[in-house]
Amino acid sequence: MAGKAGEIRIENEALRSLVRTIFKAAGSNDRECAIVADHLVEANLRGHDSHGVGMLPAYIANALSGECRLDAAPSVATDLGQLLILEADRGLGQTMAHDAVAMAIDRAEAQGSCIMSLRNSHHIGRIGHWSEQCVRAGMVSIHFVNVISTPAVAPFGGPSARVGTNPISIGLPRPGKNPFIVDFATSRLAVGKIRVAYNKGVDVPEGVLLDGHGEPTTNPAALFEEPLGALRTFGEHKGWTLSFACDLLAGALAGGSTQKGPKSRDAIINNMFSIVVSPEAMGTAASYAREIEAYAEWVTRPPEGRAPSVLLPGEPELATRADRLAKGIPVDTNTWEQVLAAGESVKLSRDAMRSMAGVA
Ligand code: NAD
Repeated sequence: MAGKAGEIRIENEALRSLVRTIFKAAGSNDRECAIVADHLVEANLRGHDSHGVGMLPAYIANALSGECRLDAAPSVATDLGQLLILEADRGLGQTMAHDAVAMAIDRAEAQGSCIMSLRNSHHIGRIGHWSEQCVRAGMVSIHFVNVISTPAVAPFGGPSARVGTNPISIGLPRPGKNPFIVDFATSRLAVGKIRVAYNKGVDVPEGVLLDGHGEPTTNPAALFEEPLGALRTFGEHKGWTLSFACDLLAGALAGGSTQKGPKSRDAIINNMFSIVVSPEAMGTAASYAREIEAYAEWVTRPPEGRAPSVLLPGEPELATRADRLAKGIPVDTNTWEQVLAAGESVKLSRDAMRSMAGVA
């Protein structure tokens, strides 16, 4: 498929097949290949290229260096039924979070709710993916995540990076309709979006970045070239205090770790604190379903004579998904080169990968 200059377009199934093939060559079993391909390509489909196949090169490099474990399963650290703490020990995050969330859903189906902590996982990607897993089972869920990597975000009022982009997601199922998915980093933008801008050679909006001297900049190199700068939190002190809560809930409470210093290893570690609740078990499923529909209609209803202009959480991603399923997934040529190089590092040929992706 043809894309804009500096960009190619790859069809959904072809891209999934390529991701599966690269992970298979790296040593993942078929189940893990399917889980990670679904995760990365869904992120691209939903417009979050920061968490799509652009993450594959880091995952493969970390798997080859032993920083990320393939074909692993989370182990149970604490199990009190509705309270579950799981240890991932740097297992591939897509498998770790998939299996951990599946266990939390099982508990919530049996007992009405589950508080689940997953600690020391390799990067778990787009957090909305885990909310979507919960809403498919009819569950409401809340996820607080912290990031242990090179600090990338300045606390509000501070000039330099101290913490991660610490994301939050909330999933709300809607019987018979598309769910509401709230899913964002507590920084103004996700690091991956700065990486995409850096790879494309374009500026980021004002107000997002500080340079290595603590001064505002729009140059994405601030996160990738010395002297390293920092992302700012969204909403001034509000994003910062939510980020702070993510580190303590996801990192401290379940025995993982908070971000306290420079990165000590190449792996990007996530800890996740999740609450999964069944509206059925609460006995409110019918009134919940009625109430959210009435609310959604009210908040989006335009004043007389005005066109609709309010979107609900999750709607932008679904619009992008429909568009990309029809037109192909755009991948910038720098990212594409990095994906090909990752495939070569596990002994795949460029020609075979290009042909699998339908790229000339
Ligand atoms: P973002 O700023 O694009 O916000 C996305 C959220 O806002 C979604 O819920 C979306 O539906 C909603 N939204 C967007 N525009 C809207 C509008 N006009 N009206 C109503 N709702 C709207 O997201 P982000 O902060 O750039 O984060 C991108 C991704 O990065 C997320 O999936 C996040 O989970 C992921 N992330 C992961 C990590 C990690 O370590 N694993 C760290 C940071 C971010």
